[in-house]
Amino acid sequence: MSAPPRLFVEPDLEAGIDVPLSADQSHYVLNVMRLETGDSVLLFNGRHGEWQASVGVASKRNASVVPSRQTRPQSAPPDLWLLFAPIKRQRIDLMVEKAAELGVRRLQPVMTERTHVERVNGDRLRAHAIEAAEQCGLLSVPDVGAPQPLASVLTDWPGDRRLLFCDEQGPAPPVLEALRDRARQPWAVLVGPEGGFSASERDLLLALPAAVPVSLGPRILRADTAAVAALALWQAMLGDWT
Ligand code: SAM
Repeated sequence: MSAPPRLFVEPDLEAGIDVPLSADQSHYVLNVMRLETGDSVLLFNGRHGEWQASVGVASKRNASVVPSRQTRPQSAPPDLWLLFAPIKRQRIDLMVEKAAELGVRRLQPVMTERTHVERVNGDRLRAHAIEAAEQCGLLSVPDVGAPQPLASVLTDWPGDRRLLFCDEQGPAPPVLEALRDRARQPWAVLVGPEGGFSASERDLLLALPAAVPVSLGPRILRADTAAVAALALWQAMLGDWT
């Protein structure tokens, strides 16, 4: 028997309450998964863990679900952010999906001098993050911040957070060497645009005490590949893969 579908919902979760589903979720549950009243789904809202629930009222277009018991308590992913310069649509969607799967808590688009993407559709990125969380058994969905200029993000950089600066122009130490013997504290990973960081941006980054410049090897990786590689290595060294 296939696993019940997992759905991210906003309302609080407790036994016996009626949780209405959105139009898209109702379509997915009723028409795609062809579930009927009484069939099982799993719910999570990023606050109250994961709950077993059953399809309650189902009309042609609208469904609601009723939680019955908590199946997993809420837990928080490691305190890891991904800062990324927006790239082309398909690649940015893929990067957001992979970063969510890899357990980031926050996705922060940063506008850089060589960013050629005018607009970032935050709602679409959030929808991709929710879908990744639903499919990968996550208990929370990463926040998606509104795009900000890199310089202002660095000016207000939080004192307790380290910044893993993926610096293909270097010289920078190999990432595993740079992460060895580091404290477990809040971190962020930064990847640049397809055109790379400008000289003045690199100066700003190298002057930031919290920044840890790293090399991801001798090949120039596409930004989305660099993000996945850096996040995976951070999780392996300092995250919840250890
Ligand atoms: N400026 C580069 C160029 O020569 O065209 C390409 C930039 S790369 C496509 C996009 C971003 O991925 C970079 O700004 C950097 O953050 C990261 N990146 C790619 N390859 C890397 C490497 N070998 N080491 C560290 N960071 C890398």
